[in-house]
Amino acid sequence: MSLSFAPILARYEPVIGLEVHAQLLTRSKLFCGCANRFGAPPNTLVCPVCLGLPGALPVLNRHAVTLALRASLALGCRVNATSVFERKNYFYPDLPKGYQISQYAEPLATGGSLAIAGAEGGERHVRLARLHMEEDAGKLLHEGFSWSGEKSGVDLNRAGVPLVEIVSEPDLRSSEEAHAYLGALRAVLLYTGVSDGNMEEGSLRCDANVSVRPRGEAALGTRTEIKNLNSFRHVARAIEHEVARQVALVESGNQVVQETRLWNADRGETAPMRSKEDAHDYRYFPEPDLAPLAVGPEWLDEVCRSLPELPAQRRRRLVGEYALPEYDAAVLTQERELADYFEAAARKSDSPKAVSNWIMTELLRKLKRDARPLAEAPVTPAALASLVTLVESGRISGRTAKDVFERMWTSGEPAATIVEREGLAQLDDEGALQAAVAEVVAASPEQVASYRGGKAAALGWFVGQVMRRTGGRANPQRVNALLRKTLDGAR
Ligand SMILES: [Zn+2]
Repeated sequence: MSLSFAPILARYEPVIGLEVHAQLLTRSKLFCGCANRFGAPPNTLVCPVCLGLPGALPVLNRHAVTLALRASLALGCRVNATSVFERKNYFYPDLPKGYQISQYAEPLATGGSLAIAGAEGGERHVRLARLHMEEDAGKLLHEGFSWSGEKSGVDLNRAGVPLVEIVSEPDLRSSEEAHAYLGALRAVLLYTGVSDGNMEEGSLRCDANVSVRPRGEAALGTRTEIKNLNSFRHVARAIEHEVARQVALVESGNQVVQETRLWNADRGETAPMRSKEDAHDYRYFPEPDLAPLAVGPEWLDEVCRSLPELPAQRRRRLVGEYALPEYDAAVLTQERELADYFEAAARKSDSPKAVSNWIMTELLRKLKRDARPLAEAPVTPAALASLVTLVESGRISGRTAKDVFERMWTSGEPAATIVEREGLAQLDDEGALQAAVAEVVAASPEQVASYRGGKAAALGWFVGQVMRRTGGRANPQRVNALLRKTLDGAR
């Protein structure tokens, strides 16, 4: 959070709720057999049902419901025995039917909560209001075509793709908490295989309800809804901008107007989009072509049994089992594959914390640099564990290890092979080290005098000289000890 923001937060408390839409990882759409796939040429994944042609009838995709149930149970929601699909009527060019099939009065699930890291350590539970299913709309294409200057196109491949909308209670109190909530929610969706959580491709989208109130005040201020938040960074920035805007309005004696605002990432500000609709504007009514959705106990049991260990459980387990700091455990459990990688390496090493450090710095940095998924990392968990063992046992220095890791990354060779071939093992031989120390001391009478005159910091200079003379391979702790003995002993 920027520094100029701090004085505002001393006087006002932001109140934030998030509405997250997640696309479900099904093969086909929610009510027809068209493929649910990103990146196909526009309007190639469509049929009479998702185009809303007269007479076409929707058929509910059972697997989509199973995935929505997985999300519901993983978030601790109460699944309703019966839920009802309704038509949400509105006009927009990306919605050929003129209505979206959604759930309103009787959603799939209600309640539940999500744990996020609290500001003062520990965990905070953010309450959820509901989780419901709905179909996605199409997408307007405003750029990228020769005719884009004159008109916009519409791509209906996305129309009818299954979504869950997860609505939080207004329990979040800062942009950081909103960011943490989104990260925790994404992790749950990834772990359970409910969604791929890819924000760039739009499979995870977020709207934020934001209001402010003077600190100590119980009543909620008037809220605005910010749409179009398509990255974690934008969510945080948009919330901060909106909080500052509302506080400025209140302090100048004006009022916040309840409305929907659009986040403009290029300008870094929100702008009014439309006055906020009320539910009655949508003229909801039950979808006459779909029976109410009944979820019996057998179905729920089956879904419950298929749930994997969830991110929060795994985070706690990593802290307990491997004595990792909370921070490390939180980073490593963001994605299931990363946590798997860590555990596979940690089990083969005596130093899980060192393994964690290597993953959080070198491994993640190189994956990002090469834009590779973890599955294609050239260094396997076992190979990383061997490298960590070489460092921990003092065979190679931490510095050398970074070079070795780089070579492992490019060649795929094991650490031991590289260290052996290139003669990178630390110089531990007492005689060789003592000789190097003696040479340096003999060649530097001025520095010796300075050190013996009380300038203790000069020792570092001697260590540097010995390291240089040994091509960086000397064990620094040993060199330090030998230098002290030579310099102090002869006094
Ligand atoms: Zn279709």
